[in-house]
Amino acid sequence: MERIFNFSAGPATLPQEVLELARDELANWHGCGMSVMEMSHRGKEYMGIQAEAEADLRELMGIPANYKVLFLQGGASSQFAMVPMNLLRGKASADYLNTGEWSKKAIKEAKKYCAVNVVASSEDKNFSYAPAQDAWKLDPNAAYVHYTPNETIGGVEIFWTPQTGDVPLVADMSSTILSRPIDVSKFGLIYAGAQKNIGPAGLTLVIVRDDLLGQTINGTPTMFDYKTHAENESMYNTPPTYAIYIAGLVFKMLKAKGGLAAMEKANRAKAQLLYDALDASRFFNSPVAPENRSLMNIPFTLKNAVCDDEFLKDAKGRSMVQLKGHRSVGGMRASIYNAMPIEGVQTLVNLMKDFEKKHG
Ligand SMILES: *Cc1c(COP(=O)(O)O)cnc(C)c1O
Repeated sequence: MERIFNFSAGPATLPQEVLELARDELANWHGCGMSVMEMSHRGKEYMGIQAEAEADLRELMGIPANYKVLFLQGGASSQFAMVPMNLLRGKASADYLNTGEWSKKAIKEAKKYCAVNVVASSEDKNFSYAPAQDAWKLDPNAAYVHYTPNETIGGVEIFWTPQTGDVPLVADMSSTILSRPIDVSKFGLIYAGAQKNIGPAGLTLVIVRDDLLGQTINGTPTMFDYKTHAENESMYNTPPTYAIYIAGLVFKMLKAKGGLAAMEKANRAKAQLLYDALDASRFFNSPVAPENRSLMNIPFTLKNAVCDDEFLKDAKGRSMVQLKGHRSVGGMRASIYNAMPIEGVQTLVNLMKDFEKKHG
């Protein structure tokens, strides 16, 4: 069967070559007579797989030696609580930027643990832009500054790194990680659910500067303490072994393709193709401020919302699925992570042109 173009925001499309390699290795990994799913996480085969995944990720992202890489579970949503539990470090408040639905969820959870100072918000314009840094009201006594560099639902991306002085910068990179190079040393902590741009759901990645560990609030469960996982190489309990193995295959493939600089080039070309089509159209519209247009998640609306269902039906007829937009934005959303080939975006643009001719 032919593969279709899956524009889902997550779980999202995975590289075909990774799926095929995983299929070939499924029942008998490297001649050991069992699948990765069946291996002891304490055996040398699996420990090798995880160590290699971490080494490849460190190389891809240029992660400095004083940062720990943690392979956790519970999704990015668990990090909304684990971040304050671990990083408040005796302080009473934390700074949060509010740029959309995921920021809002992070803020809501943090309020259970501390006072939240919202440094700036774009809610006034339905989260269609990101406030510039000079509009942020940072608190020098905040425990950390949290932001969402790519709002997956609104399609709003921040391409610059906020300056927060000595206050650690924390980023929910769920939908932007591995899409372009970043300077990890500018961050105190980075987290991401794997199911957008890393691998299968069930794995959550945390990259944390080691001086921030070991200062949890009283009563923090052992499993929610980053130090537990840092000290046990993410093997305090059973890690999500198969998801880590697939993520490791993705990391190897990204390295072979030229790393994150090559990914950025490809991602910019894909996004440009779609944004150019939106700008040239009188029927389709991008609601996002030009300087914040996401490379990964591209929402767009049709001039006449009654055409939405027909557009989705036509898309399905051309092997494109999961284009329906989130209810908070309406219209469509094309998620075009690393694994979406440019042919998928071209197929979408071709449909948009034909659809506009018919309905415009
Ligand atoms: C998908 C997503 C989440 C939620 O991730 P889960 O792994 O489902 O908890 C959080 N933040 C952002 C930016 C996301 O895209």
